[in-house]
Amino acid sequence: MFAPYAATDQASRGRRYSEPDPANRSQYQRDRDRIIHCAAFRRLEYKTQVFVNHEGDLFRTRLTHSIEVAQIGRSIARALGLNEDLTEAISLAHDLGHTPFGHSGQDALNECMKAYGGFEHNLQSLRVVDVLEERYAEFPGLNLTFETREGILKHCSPRNALVLGELGQRFLEKKQPGLEAQLVNIADEIAYNNHDVDDGLRSGLLTVEQLCSVALFAEQYNEVRQRYPVLADRRAIYETVRRMINRVVTDLIENSQRLLRLSGVQGIEDVRQHPTSLIAFAAETRERSAELKRFLRRNLYAHEQVTRMMNESVKVVHELFTAFMQDPQLLPPQYQDKWHEPENAGDTARRARVVADYIAGMTDRYAVREHARLLG
Ligand code: MG
Repeated sequence: MFAPYAATDQASRGRRYSEPDPANRSQYQRDRDRIIHCAAFRRLEYKTQVFVNHEGDLFRTRLTHSIEVAQIGRSIARALGLNEDLTEAISLAHDLGHTPFGHSGQDALNECMKAYGGFEHNLQSLRVVDVLEERYAEFPGLNLTFETREGILKHCSPRNALVLGELGQRFLEKKQPGLEAQLVNIADEIAYNNHDVDDGLRSGLLTVEQLCSVALFAEQYNEVRQRYPVLADRRAIYETVRRMINRVVTDLIENSQRLLRLSGVQGIEDVRQHPTSLIAFAAETRERSAELKRFLRRNLYAHEQVTRMMNESVKVVHELFTAFMQDPQLLPPQYQDKWHEPENAGDTARRARVVADYIAGMTDRYAVREHARLLG
């Protein structure tokens, strides 16, 4: 059923704390199920992707984004003979460490934490599943397999990689993760590029005319208009986005099949040793996808209406951080307990991490409410 280079239970590097094998599921199904049952996963529903959660009911949130990544990832995994369960687990967990308010929230928290080791959302996602979710009697965190954790940790600074042991190794040696991890990385990009076109148009921040300057959009849009001349605008956009996804996914499958064949990799360890990623677009699609990404950065993510709201949220994060650092009694009891743990005594960096964990876990609306409650 699996291609020889797929991740399998047999080839897994296992879990940090040993457990009996699952009875009726695979190891990666178990990982996925644990992720779905954790609190950080439920909070994704109220965290910003691009638009703040309360701006409209139709826009993507981090939860619906993660589900779209899983959908795209799974269909590619199946076509390539990769492990669909592992792909789904990584997809659903890949954004668990995101702060409220999207990237500006993360940048703000990183700035607050500058003197205390910084804040990286990828590393935070790993911290959520390794440490912060306390749900099981036998071990801290969710005790996920090495392969799921490897996929969650998409990027990592060399300084942080040094303290991560086996998991950090590849960032120091510039090696690759397994194919399912490589796949989710691109599925993430395919998902947000396309749903942000859809959300951007729906919000009125982008126009069809503007988007027609982007080859990937123009090609599909013109074809749809030609073939269905009287289709309502909204429906023409849906049809265009659907075709755009299909266009890049098809390219990714075909090109990756070619790369895998040429590479001669025989197993997941070969994949990890291979100098380059084997799940990749062909050159033309890669360039077109980059063009769309640049367009969205310039016209949507940097749109005045988006940045104005983001500036507001940067202020919320900064002021919450300062308030908790000055007066830890403002923290909820379980975070106060962590602040006062003996190993944190006199260690401002460790105490700042407690505050960062609390803020990072907040949803958009919870952060706004806490800010109003504490700071008026
Ligand atoms: Mg993502």
